[in-house]
Amino acid sequence: MLTNDKLAEWDRETFFHPSTHLAQHARGETPSRIITGGKGVYIEDRDGRKMLDAFAGLYCVNVGYGRPEIAEAIAEQARELAYYHAYVGHGTEASITLAKMVLDRAPANMSKVYFGLSGSDANETNVKLVWYYNNIRGKPEKKKIISRWRGYHGSGLMTGSLTGLELFHKKFDLPLSQVIHTEAPYYFRRADTSMSEEAFVAHCASELEALIEREGADTIGAFIGEPALGTGGLVPPPAGYWEAIQAVLDKHDILLIADEVVTGFGRLGSMFGSDHYGIRPDIITIAKGLTSAYAPLSGSIVSDKVWKVLEEGTDEFGPIGHGWTYSAHPIGAAAGVANLKLIDELGLVKNAGETGAYLKQALIDAVGDHPHVGEVRGEGLLIAVEFVKDRDSRTYFDASEKAGARVVQALAGENVISRAMPQGDIAGFAPPLCLSREEADLIAGKVKKAVEATFA
Ligand code: PLP
Repeated sequence: MLTNDKLAEWDRETFFHPSTHLAQHARGETPSRIITGGKGVYIEDRDGRKMLDAFAGLYCVNVGYGRPEIAEAIAEQARELAYYHAYVGHGTEASITLAKMVLDRAPANMSKVYFGLSGSDANETNVKLVWYYNNIRGKPEKKKIISRWRGYHGSGLMTGSLTGLELFHKKFDLPLSQVIHTEAPYYFRRADTSMSEEAFVAHCASELEALIEREGADTIGAFIGEPALGTGGLVPPPAGYWEAIQAVLDKHDILLIADEVVTGFGRLGSMFGSDHYGIRPDIITIAKGLTSAYAPLSGSIVSDKVWKVLEEGTDEFGPIGHGWTYSAHPIGAAAGVANLKLIDELGLVKNAGETGAYLKQALIDAVGDHPHVGEVRGEGLLIAVEFVKDRDSRTYFDASEKAGARVVQALAGENVISRAMPQGDIAGFAPPLCLSREEADLIAGKVKKAVEATFA
């Protein structure tokens, strides 16, 4: 396969890639990258080019590439029992064990885990659970979901609507009417630059309160948010944000869904972002780090409060009409069990906190003073370098200048992969949680070179 010269041609002729400029790719104007292997934080393509993957795939290969422990667990599960469904109370040793392991690590007051396949389908599940919950409670009007601009929650119909990024709405007739958006907790990009962080938090809370008042609290079922914004810019929340938001939600009987697809299982230096920021969610979305992407698996962790109502519902109306053929797929579950064990054994949560702080400082030292670097920010191993046209007047580049994308491209030329975040000029860093300090130094050094070359 590796020597098949036709691969690139077949790729352009037959493969519909997600999140890709389709026309450019089909015309051969974009590079075809065919990845063949990976070890630790490095991936290798079929031409033998080795690159440090400082975005862990799509911030999901948390234990790093090439872990035999997970590969063997998958192979063993496939040999023993590749598949059985989870409907009407069926389970496998792997799926039951994984549910227990997830609950043992989850924030307080969580009751059960429903397993899906992707972050998108898990959030679709969550929306349905919110609707079911409020129907059972006799509050059928309480259905709208509040999300934040710049939130990312998937690209399905509901989840693409929850996502607060233009690219995911435009020409798809989204967002659907049940979804409404509120202010992003993005202090750096605040409209009024004279606002203190504290004042900005109060502003976010009052914007939320005003939205709820306009729509009517009795029409709103839930609020969804990532503990730290991911795809929308890699932005940790300003201090006190979650406390202020939760006070508003509690007052109006609105459920809180913490979307921990990126932050779950260690990325911020805590097992869950909810614990990191003192969030008390009613439902938690998990995916990516659950298996470190060795197999597709996601989940919805449901709190005691929500679970109690779901049980009441099935007593009244019969089995819950929700499930996928591949829910709790044994191979995904086996990968999850091996992955969570590895995260513990290697101390990766602690390493994410410590090496994350080290990498952030190394990036600040490398480019923090550069006239086109507006901010280096992050928490754990979720770090962003945001570029601006002018630091003092806080002006941004025009999107057509592709400033962030050019830095990311220059960095790729140095064999370091970061991600040009889709909105704004932001280079994103979310490497595997096993990153070492030497690898962090290498990233920072290459970033300095790429930034200097781009803005020379
Ligand atoms: N939620 C968050 C916070 C995400 O970052 C993502 C994907 O990046 C999703 C949901 C959607 O997950 P998936 O791409 O597996 O559908």
